[in-house]
Amino acid sequence: MDTGSAKQLISIVVPCYDEEDAIAETIRQLTRLCDGQPSYDFELIFVDDGSKDATLQLLREAAGRDPRIKLLSFARNFGHQIAVTAGIDAASGDAVVLIDADLQDPPQTIVEMIVKWREGYDVVYGTRTLRPGESRFKLFTARGFYRVLNGLSEVPIPLDTGDFRLIGRNVVDVLKSMPERDRFVRGMVSWVGFKQTSLPYERARRIAGTSKYPLRKMIRFASDGILSFSAKPLRFATSIGLATAVLALLGILYVLALRLTTSIWVEGWTAIMIALLFLGGVQLVCLGILGEYVGRIYSEVKKRPLYVVRERIGFDDVSINTTVLKRRVIAAE
Ligand code: UDP
Ligand code: MG
Repeated sequence: MDTGSAKQLISIVVPCYDEEDAIAETIRQLTRLCDGQPSYDFELIFVDDGSKDATLQLLREAAGRDPRIKLLSFARNFGHQIAVTAGIDAASGDAVVLIDADLQDPPQTIVEMIVKWREGYDVVYGTRTLRPGESRFKLFTARGFYRVLNGLSEVPIPLDTGDFRLIGRNVVDVLKSMPERDRFVRGMVSWVGFKQTSLPYERARRIAGTSKYPLRKMIRFASDGILSFSAKPLRFATSIGLATAVLALLGILYVLALRLTTSIWVEGWTAIMIALLFLGGVQLVCLGILGEYVGRIYSEVKKRPLYVVRERIGFDDVSINTTVLKRRVIAAE
């Protein structure tokens, strides 16, 4: 942490996808929060993730009004985790705060995060104690997901914790050197280490608009979390393969015994069908698991850039170019 006399800079990163109904209020509350903390400098980095509504226009206008507001706009929708990554790449603060654009995470909590950070923690992550306004299905799947993930993952990933957090510069620099494509940002932050602590908070309802995480994106997000942080599904495939091999061996012995000792060996069509279907099913499951990993390796080796930026407002271009260059150099190693 920089202890010089100049004010420390806090970057607040906000990913936005079709948030036209919420964004004006979010900007208002975040700028008010910054105004209330005169002992820090702030930059608000809005990442427009290829919105198809008026979000981009509203952000452009806001950036024109307030020099603290910076805008990064993607050429298409790349997804929440990539948008967060782009914001982290572009941030120049001593600490970076990640917050959603729908005010489900109360901005006032950021003040408490900053206090903890000043106490010496490198990462302060918000843990949700209450989640009003979410469907039962979402609550149930989210609860299950964090527990399964934690059971499988090789690094402990805090339960009931989203991306709402403050990340110190030292951790940000490590994150920027992690070039992986299937990004599960909260897991990556846990992986880095340093001093991390949790801050309990009550999650609010979305102020406007609807969730931008349909079931399809939730499944993709959950499998990224599990497959990027665990090789246990592969081991599971091996175990289930071994178990069926043992069963098959017993079956073979049984069939041979029948063949040698009785004369009713032609019957048994049911047993054959069961064995056939069972083995076929197990093989497909294992192939599927393998395929998931191979597919991810394929997308890694293509080494495409992680995101395409269409427009930048308010950034000092030199710093952005170095970031992009750094990413390319890392990718080329
Ligand atoms: N988001 C994004 N790209 C996407 C989907 C979502 O940038 O493809 C943003 C969205 O605008 C919001 C945040 O990610 O700021 C979280 O999304 P949302 O609130 O819809 O998710 P939920 O809270 O329902 O899980
Ligand atoms: Mg939300």
